[in-house]
Amino acid sequence: MLKKHKTKNAQETKKLGSLFAKELNGTDIVALCGGLGAGKTVFAKGIAEGLGIKEEIVSPTFTILKQYAGKEKLYHFDLYRIEDEEELEHIGFYDYLGLDGICVIEWPENAENMPECIKVRLTGSGSDERTIEIEGINP
Ligand code: ADP
Ligand code: MG
Repeated sequence: MLKKHKTKNAQETKKLGSLFAKELNGTDIVALCGGLGAGKTVFAKGIAEGLGIKEEIVSPTFTILKQYAGKEKLYHFDLYRIEDEEELEHIGFYDYLGLDGICVIEWPENAENMPECIKVRLTGSGSDERTIEIEGINP
């Protein structure tokens, strides 16, 4: 998969997420980086679609974690509201990484001890096109 992509709308970002998902294996960890409204959740919805998850994906901003089952298990985290490491330990965040499913993490910057992982960086906002850079897949 190319390292750098441009998408003109949410549908294209979702489609890219679903193609990206085909390259993932069992317990891969994916950090989704980018500001508010960059399209992290849209991309995560595409990943879920690519994994054959039929359930509707909702943003885990308020719940921090949403769990889904498709061809693989999917753990979708949003660490936006996390304030310290203690809170992460409390929800068992680090225990999910590499456990038995694919972990997709929005706002990974809020976890101090993120392991080496696949990074997807989304830039752009509003109705502008997005630049989506993928790093660390198929090492
Ligand atoms: P985040 O999770 O990064 O905060 P969301 O995925 O929730 O962002 O929201 C992205 C918003 O930007 C959506 O309302 C979406 O429709 C809009 N949008 C516009 N263009 C794009 C694009 N190219 N890719 C992704 N989202 C886009
Ligand atoms: Mg989001």
